[in-house]
Amino acid sequence: MRLPALLGHALDLLLPPVCAGCGAPGAACCPGCRDLLMSPSRLPCPSDAPAYALAPYRGVPRKLVLAYKERGRRDLAPVLGGLLAAALPLVIRDVGTTGACCVVPVPSRRAAARTRGGPHMLRLARQCGLHAAELGIRVSVAPALRLASGAKDAVGLDPATRTANLAGRVLPVPAALPPAGTGVVLLDDVVTTGATAVACERALARVAVPVAAVLAMTSPR
Ligand SMILES: [Zn+2]
Repeated sequence: MRLPALLGHALDLLLPPVCAGCGAPGAACCPGCRDLLMSPSRLPCPSDAPAYALAPYRGVPRKLVLAYKERGRRDLAPVLGGLLAAALPLVIRDVGTTGACCVVPVPSRRAAARTRGGPHMLRLARQCGLHAAELGIRVSVAPALRLASGAKDAVGLDPATRTANLAGRVLPVPAALPPAGTGVVLLDDVVTTGATAVACERALARVAVPVAAVLAMTSPR
């Protein structure tokens, strides 16, 4: 762990948590802010599988995603994973998946994962799995995708460049594919153009794994 990360960790232990959405003291995310991510809705997305997001990418939901992803608020993982799990019944019912479900996190770039203390979507997927079990939903987690080197961070890229950036760089991980017959739900933090979802869907299609649904925390759409 690098010094700034260590220092941040030490401060986390000393200071009481504040809500990353509104600054209220007491918890990583207060009940009021959590409520803003509890109405998943269908999104326009070029993926074959229907896509859903918990909230629009603005205001408090955007702050929560950025705090978790970019500002080292790893204490948000249980809350955000729990919110993703809470959306699964609606998604599963909507797409008609029967039987067990498997969540596949969108892969992180290795450099980004290093600065973020590990693959941030895999951490959320694991939390999602834990909370789903508490809700009585059978969910496995499969880190079935990886990014080949050369992919840049998608922030600030236009749709065409995003697609080109990802073309052929999202690869299946044969040793970590979802169990056969499970309804695969692809998890992402922000669905913007849908280029990432499409690239992930195609990579899984190459190993005969169909994606049933895409579930994102937020989307500007
Ligand atoms: Zn709050």
